[in-house]
Amino acid sequence: MEVKNKRVLVVGLGRSGAASAFFLKDQGAKVTVSDEKSEAQLQTEIAALLDRGISLETGRHGERTFRDQDLIVVSPGVPSDQPQLQLARTMGIPVIGEVELAFRFLQGKVVAITGSNGKTTTTTLVGEILARSGKKTLVGGNIGTPVISLAGKSTPDTLTVLEISSFQLETIQQFRPWIAAILNITPDHLDRHHTFQAYADAKARIFENQTPDDLAVLNADDAACLALKDKVKAQLWWFSRKHEVERGAYLKGDQIVFRGAGKDQTVLGRGDIQLKGSHNLENVLASVTMGMLAGCAPEQIRSAVAEFRAVEHRLELVTTVNGVAFYNDSKATNVDATVKALESFPGNIHIILGGKDKGSDYTALNPLLRERAKRAYLIGAAAEKIASQIQGAAPLTRSGTLERAVKQAFEAAKAGDIVLLAPACASFDQFENYEQRGRIFKELALSLAPVSLEKASLGDRA
Ligand code: ADP
Repeated sequence: MEVKNKRVLVVGLGRSGAASAFFLKDQGAKVTVSDEKSEAQLQTEIAALLDRGISLETGRHGERTFRDQDLIVVSPGVPSDQPQLQLARTMGIPVIGEVELAFRFLQGKVVAITGSNGKTTTTTLVGEILARSGKKTLVGGNIGTPVISLAGKSTPDTLTVLEISSFQLETIQQFRPWIAAILNITPDHLDRHHTFQAYADAKARIFENQTPDDLAVLNADDAACLALKDKVKAQLWWFSRKHEVERGAYLKGDQIVFRGAGKDQTVLGRGDIQLKGSHNLENVLASVTMGMLAGCAPEQIRSAVAEFRAVEHRLELVTTVNGVAFYNDSKATNVDATVKALESFPGNIHIILGGKDKGSDYTALNPLLRERAKRAYLIGAAAEKIASQIQGAAPLTRSGTLERAVKQAFEAAKAGDIVLLAPACASFDQFENYEQRGRIFKELALSLAPVSLEKASLGDRA
């Protein structure tokens, strides 16, 4: 792709927007950035952009700005059906996302991973497996490092492992991964994709440009993944924790086995996995499949998995105070992730739920809450909706804030209990993002003073 002297508009000044703007400028494009946020809200980024001679439009998306361009690059946070973008499309201006832009400049091969849950964990693990196997590996995408910032680092022998969101897939055109995986498709982001079908269709676009020379990986235990089977043009591989697969990775007793070319190979034992929960077993199975397809040796895969610990904010053990274990699963921003978190513990759970609702149905939590939760502590804007939908499944405390929820849960918990932040909601009502929510939870848990048992019992007697 040639962008030299072209007029390029970058819409949305997030991390990937800024990285795209700088990259395009380096390539000799005439770059403008447009963001609806005010200048005051964007201050830190602005100085750096202006310094580099990048033009800026803040506080609005002007129609003129969108019209006078040769190319528009949209950030994943900007809805792709936004009116100015629609207008640009009708005028024949190409509108692409940052992932598509980066793909045109990336050298080597791409391994792309999407799904409703488990993307970051699996992307990180696949990166570790490939690196341990001596492959030249880069990791990025939705995970935090913009894909475009990897373009300059890639060479023809690089394997770039990318976490890709459904939003990023909405704006691809030629993006064609060598290996592409969908881990699962469960309802999420229905506030933006509107219907489950539209959301599933966006995810399926990861396979759209693949050919029979490429490799596709799907979860054989997931109904929405199974339904994609006939859409895949690449060679299809499966993973399953429930049954044998035609080809791919599956659980055979306590062994993780890879079946390729009609032959089973044991890669690792279930006991090698340090991560908690059956969902993480699925992430490992997916990673094993991709590692084997990329040509890694089973022993390298085994040792990479064995050393792998939870990624921060994903069912991460924070501390144990008075025998009460605190788990930070702030990344559980949808109902399915919270279901998986609840499934990871046999019982005695004090769960903190709530935040910004995404049009979710929380009744799906009820069977597990009934079985495993001692109490639910509700926080944030979604508290009342959640209360009405989970009423009766567990005793409820309306905590309002995370700080009160941690305090109340700790007061109520007994040794052996678990305090779990797995809120099933986005964080933006009370926090900047899920990372900040998770960090605050960790600070709150770490600042709890252990109650001395002697004092506690004296107190009881008094
Ligand atoms: P993503 O990047 O897709 O959000 P993460 O690895 O960050 O995935 O995990 C997000 C949340 O989903 C965490 O709360 C985690 O415990 C849960 N989770 C991880 N893997 C899976 C899976 N395979 N199925 C369901 N939930 C999962």
